[in-house]
Amino acid sequence: MTPAERLHQLRSQIAHHNERYYAHDAPEISDADYDLLVRELAGIEAEHPELVVADSPTQQVGAGALSTSFSEVVHRVQMTSLDNAMDVAELQAWGERITKGLGGGLAVGQPAEGLFAPEVRFVCELKIDGLAMSLRYEGGRFVQAATRGDGRVGEDVTPNVATIAAVPKVLPAGVPEVLEVRGEVYLPLAAFERLKAAKEAENVQRLDAGRKPEPVPVNPRNAGAGSLRQKDPTVTAGRGLAFWSYQLGEVVGGPEFTDHSHALDYLRTLGFPVNPEIRAVGSLAEVIEFCAKWQEQRHTLPYEIDGAVVKVDSLAQREVLGFTSRAPRWAIAFKFPPEERTTILRDIQVSVGRTGRTTPFAVLEPVFVGGSTVGMATLHNQDQVAAKDVRPGDTVVVRKAGDVIPEVVGPVLSLRPAGLAPWVFPRLCPCPLQTELVRPEGEADTRCVEPSCPFQRDQRVIYFASRGAMDIEGLGENTVFQLSDAGLLADAGDIYSLTREQLLALDKWGDTKADNLLAAIEGSKNRPLPKVLTALGCKGLGPSASEGLARAFGTLDAIMHASEADLATTDGVGPTIAAAIVRWFAVPANREFVEKLRAAGVEFGRVEVSRLPQNLVGKAVVVTGTLEGYSREQAEAAIKDRGGKSPGSVSAKTFAVVVGAEPGASKVTKAEALAIPMLDLAGFEHLLATGELPT
Ligand code: NAD
Repeated sequence: MTPAERLHQLRSQIAHHNERYYAHDAPEISDADYDLLVRELAGIEAEHPELVVADSPTQQVGAGALSTSFSEVVHRVQMTSLDNAMDVAELQAWGERITKGLGGGLAVGQPAEGLFAPEVRFVCELKIDGLAMSLRYEGGRFVQAATRGDGRVGEDVTPNVATIAAVPKVLPAGVPEVLEVRGEVYLPLAAFERLKAAKEAENVQRLDAGRKPEPVPVNPRNAGAGSLRQKDPTVTAGRGLAFWSYQLGEVVGGPEFTDHSHALDYLRTLGFPVNPEIRAVGSLAEVIEFCAKWQEQRHTLPYEIDGAVVKVDSLAQREVLGFTSRAPRWAIAFKFPPEERTTILRDIQVSVGRTGRTTPFAVLEPVFVGGSTVGMATLHNQDQVAAKDVRPGDTVVVRKAGDVIPEVVGPVLSLRPAGLAPWVFPRLCPCPLQTELVRPEGEADTRCVEPSCPFQRDQRVIYFASRGAMDIEGLGENTVFQLSDAGLLADAGDIYSLTREQLLALDKWGDTKADNLLAAIEGSKNRPLPKVLTALGCKGLGPSASEGLARAFGTLDAIMHASEADLATTDGVGPTIAAAIVRWFAVPANREFVEKLRAAGVEFGRVEVSRLPQNLVGKAVVVTGTLEGYSREQAEAAIKDRGGKSPGSVSAKTFAVVVGAEPGASKVTKAEALAIPMLDLAGFEHLLATGELPT
């Protein structure tokens, strides 16, 4: 393909995506994939300037056809886009262009003392992932709101924007006759989560009624834009949109400013929401620091940002620098690495857990997202697959934000190949025994109930050896699969009879690796009783129930012979777990397993019990960030020693989140969204002492 042909192809693809994004709020590709197309186009145009045309997307403020649902508004001061920098080098290059544009820099051959470096102050702002909006006030009253559109003509969305509480409707006395304020309308994360949850619940009902599920909102930006651009403003009103103002537009009869930062202060005094994280700095080094900080901490915010916007503060300097056809030269968007990409869903497969629970997962065309290459993502259960309506062959949106596991957000329906069949949950277990799967009435999970299923067995061994159970270093997933394939494991008890020769016969095993594993296995024989109990893998017998039982009964034999009623009254164990324990020990194969461990030399009576008050039983307390005086392990141990749990992630069941310095962003955001109480160090110590939240 010649450059001109590729150029033509790219321009029409970009025009198509602009239309999907701006006019329909329903993009078909992720922003990152879109940006790649634009970058490729800009690259070809840079090499072939003769091919640049005025209506190329690189020369225009991007908008597809405006929607016909709204009337047009002509912007008296053009609304622009922003050029962007994808990394620090591009940010520095922009800084150099600014210096040069203001008459600075060092011409070739000039002596160093001839260098003129203009003093430039920068205002660093967050790049809010929303929808640009122009608000017009006349005589201090809100009269009109318009979208950016193509920068010259936007859409009149006044009734919709009037429903946003954060947008002032009347300004204090003495404001300019005409005041246009620009900023970003956005959907806060909590509002987005609510909208998504409501749509998912609606879809489950639709499916139950035999109807087709509807698309679930993919991200706050598109959901926010869609919420705003509703024909019926009462729909907009219910969505919880918010607004940050970041710029003045047309001003008639108002104060003159010398700096952008002063204009922002002015907006603040008039009652406009101005983002509190905005910083004015005196050097590019500080700009880079600001960008790096927010790239790291973006998930601590209760709204989404996709970068930082850096602007020259002095309005006189801005005047000198001017605009290109689509963007100011005095500003740049520093874009963060993408957390969403589109890719192909190659297949949906099912994995089998240690209790026989099956979990569907997506096999993806590998894609770089959220800092790593993602090729697989869980789909949780059958209902989730149906609610999302993802089908093998679909183009799907994949999201990986912060430390959260990758998620398949949903399909791009407009790209679905004709005739693509819905995915059907497999009837048989994927293991070689191919047993029929069952989904008990009223349960979300489909299970393999064959006790000898080799896939379940491998997972049981992995669990047996895991950190919370027997903690056997070197016996992870891959090693278990290798041992299993070699026919060396009929159950977890077999690890105690593994020999050096057997290990050395395995592919890529040498003396050190074999000796280390054998030593780790040997070392696991005297784990304390709660760990051994957990390792048995009895359903419901997790770390906290095991701890309670060990403390109450002292030995495994006492637990095996205890009545269901006695078990049920133990801390951390209720009637359900008690019944499960009795059932588990009643199975001959399980008793044989216990005896096999005993014969191998595993101890069943070492109890190290806590003497602390058990005031956190049944409570899950998540710890994030560093706390003075506690390592992470110590903080978690303090919770567990009092009978509580300390899981690694926040859910609706979390009792409280302890937030130390530099907390995990996603945990804080999730806690905020779910209104889970957050505690500082003092609050944490109060909780440990009393089992209650501080008042
Ligand atoms: P942009 O989003 O990169 O930057 C300009 C916009 O940033 C402004 O219009 C404003 O809305 C916003 N903004 C947020 N915070 C700001 C602040 N503090 N100060 C100033 N502006 C701020 O550029 P664009 O022209 O609006 O859109 C292009 C981008 O839109 C693409 O890079 C892509 O991410 C996305 N897009 C995606 C598709 C798709 O198909 N996925 C299609 C078209 C556009």
